[in-house]
Amino acid sequence: MADCITYQSKVPVVRECDVLVVGAGPAGVCAAVSAAREGAKVILCERYGSVGGMLTMGNVDPILGEVGGGTYYDEIVRRLSEIDKGTVPTTGTRIGREVPVNREAAKIVLDRMISDAGVELWVGAAFVDSLVENGKVTGAIFATQNGLRAIRAKVTVDSTGDACVAAAAGAEIEIGRESDGGLQPMTLEFTVTGVDESIAISVWGGSDPIKIPAGEFAGLEYRELCKQKNREGELPEFVTIVRLHRTSRPGERSVNATQVNDLSPLDPSDMGKAELELRDQIKKCVDFLQKYIPGFENCAIRASADTVGVRESRRVRGVEYIVDSDVENGRHRDDGIVHNAWFLIDIHNPKGGGQAEGYSKPAQPYDIPYGAIVPIKTNGLLIAGRPISGTHRAHASWRVMAICMAMGEAAGIAASKCVALGVEPRELDPAEIRKVLAARGVEL
Ligand SMILES: Cc1cc2nc3c(=O)[nH]c(=O)nc-3n(C[C@H](O)[C@H](O)[C@H](O)COP(=O)(O)OP(=O)(O)OC[C@H]3O[C@@H](n4cnc5c(N)ncnc54)[C@H](O)[C@@H]3O)c2cc1C
Repeated sequence: MADCITYQSKVPVVRECDVLVVGAGPAGVCAAVSAAREGAKVILCERYGSVGGMLTMGNVDPILGEVGGGTYYDEIVRRLSEIDKGTVPTTGTRIGREVPVNREAAKIVLDRMISDAGVELWVGAAFVDSLVENGKVTGAIFATQNGLRAIRAKVTVDSTGDACVAAAAGAEIEIGRESDGGLQPMTLEFTVTGVDESIAISVWGGSDPIKIPAGEFAGLEYRELCKQKNREGELPEFVTIVRLHRTSRPGERSVNATQVNDLSPLDPSDMGKAELELRDQIKKCVDFLQKYIPGFENCAIRASADTVGVRESRRVRGVEYIVDSDVENGRHRDDGIVHNAWFLIDIHNPKGGGQAEGYSKPAQPYDIPYGAIVPIKTNGLLIAGRPISGTHRAHASWRVMAICMAMGEAAGIAASKCVALGVEPRELDPAEIRKVLAARGVEL
């Protein structure tokens, strides 16, 4: 056993609330706003200095995935287009609707939703531990500039992406691919500007058959050139495709390419290695674009993620468990709280470059059951966002932001209903959540 110390400290309980939401990414913001709009007293705690998670701090662009109409995903897209006028429109590709995002507009939109709903926001508040009494989560402890501070809550929503609250509370956890624990690789996304729109291509992934339009490699499939330059060492070891998404501004591309494998997103030393390695890879990817891809000769880095992007870490075993066939066959359910969730089964290769299964197959529109956000053993807790209950493959289809937003909205309703009815999440009838969703005009 590793060397251990026992550390004891008196932690002031500085707040009490109905619903505590930990992690202010797309899922967490929607959960907090949703619960507050139902009348709950909500506190939302985030470790970084601004909200949005991967959408803002991760520089992830575009918003991908689809869900039935009328959710907060639609509201956020509408509010984004109101703030960021004159932008590149949403496009349709094989990976569905791509909604380009100006991350600065996203910060404003999410902040406004939080303040209009009356949510108390804490930033710079990193979750440290769960308060657990008799198997029930009753709040959490945060590291703040004032030292450790506790918040008590009737219901806590874990939207940290890494299921930190659930893990600390002793919930049943799964990690990675069932066969070998392999995790999807981590990536630092960045944006280039100075792209010549008259000729520059957009590329949504490694199975996009788009061809290079001009120059030395005219007519060659772009993905083949990426593989060739990877073999020749001009792209980093696992970078076999440099994905180029349109952003909300002409003359830009959001670049999803850098990649590290076999590092743990839960280990700060590994995260440090990823940060150093991935920033270094950005330079190599830009060199590749400037040298070989028409329209990118004068491109330059405009922005990059403030933090390494984590696609996959823990999943929390829930009362319901979404299996591969549910997403492959499009299972619909009476206890669904997100309807018609759709994306590719998008597994970036845990052990090499490109996709784990050769190419990513589409899911069929399916429903996410309420039980998938309710931990199987732990009371007082709901999960929202990528760590909900299901297999590694199924997870690969719901981890995109449109679906995480809709999940967060439903989790917020569930939390507020638990408080109002005085029941545990596992005792709540999903019909209660569906009633509120229907009243909000959400397609079920
Ligand atoms: C490189 C990369 C590219 C991607 N590309 C796309 C794409 O093009 N389109 C798309 O739709 N999706 C994409 N995704 C997936 C998507 O961005 C995420 O799965 C999605 O953001 C998950 O939402 P979330 O709210 O569950 O988690 P996150 O967005 O990760 O948010 C979690 C929040 O919790 C906070 N948090 C974590 N730990 C703590 C703690 N201890 N204390 C307090 N706060 C904490 C984080 O700081 C963060 O704000 C991509 C993901 C990655 C990593």
